[in-house]
Amino acid sequence: MKAWLLEEPKKLRLQEFGPTALTESKVKVKIEEVLLSMSDYDVYTGVSKHTYPFIFGRNAVGVVSETGDKSNSLLLKMDRVAIEPYIPCDVCSECKEGDYQNCSNMQELGHNCNGLLQNFIDLPYALLHKLPDNLSSEKALFVSYVAFCLNVVDSLNLEKGRHIAIFSSTKTGLILAQLVAYYQAVPVFISNVDALLDMARDMGIFYCFNPEKSDVEHEILMITGGRMCSELVFFSDSDFRMHDVYNAAAVNANICLAGYSNKDSKLSVAQICEKHLKVFGVYNGAGNYSSAINLLVTNKVNVEVLIGDTMNFATLDQELAEVKPEDLLLKSKIIKIN
Ligand SMILES: [Zn+2]
Repeated sequence: MKAWLLEEPKKLRLQEFGPTALTESKVKVKIEEVLLSMSDYDVYTGVSKHTYPFIFGRNAVGVVSETGDKSNSLLLKMDRVAIEPYIPCDVCSECKEGDYQNCSNMQELGHNCNGLLQNFIDLPYALLHKLPDNLSSEKALFVSYVAFCLNVVDSLNLEKGRHIAIFSSTKTGLILAQLVAYYQAVPVFISNVDALLDMARDMGIFYCFNPEKSDVEHEILMITGGRMCSELVFFSDSDFRMHDVYNAAAVNANICLAGYSNKDSKLSVAQICEKHLKVFGVYNGAGNYSSAINLLVTNKVNVEVLIGDTMNFATLDQELAEVKPEDLLLKSKIIKIN
């Protein structure tokens, strides 16, 4: 067994381990592909802080190598699986009531516990989702993003024809915009990255604009015929002012803060009170993996444009040293493990 250990920002070391004894509740997975997204790159460069050594990687696809429970036929050797990175604690009051998605002590592989940049890993059955043959592994690496966006969709009131403002500096916003359109609401994609706006237009998202080049309040006023947006999503890793979100909001609007981020954005209590805004957070895709796989396999969500170059696991330290953040802005890279 091999894993890349991040010993300090930008310093990787390949560590070999002896084989682990598989327990009955787990499955040994041979990891074949790991996604390298901007969030993973932020871990590598030390932008997001961790205790070292740390194994990063939050999204991976693999094949079942061995099952701990031989009588369990849910998964068989050689089944291809997407790995869900969220591990509920099973002891908090939410978990006790079966509300795993809102676990107050959720662990996430590659975020707050060791991740998937290794060739073999033992994982609980519940984290493994068997993939249909006609879904490529490259597309399946995006399952957690689609699941996360589905949880955002579930948190909103998506009435048919309603305008949903999506503020995003990252490509996850494009996945959400597609889902909003699929559920027959009208996405308004707002991004300070022109290349993302172009991608959104290519995907058929009609309302797209850059808040640095136009007045958000005026644009939303025109698009909504004066009603403004009653459902808004702000991706917390985005680089613009919360004030613009406020200006786009109708009275009594819902504002979903999507994801977790070190970045801080200010929305004053006075502003929240003045418009009677409801502000809440959604930060994971737990509970929506099967639906996400179904949306990908039926091409209801297109992630093809987000798939970038491949990298080799064996030479990852050298290859990663050459990567620049802008390389990951529009496409994620795929690390292949032989
Ligand atoms: Zn819990």
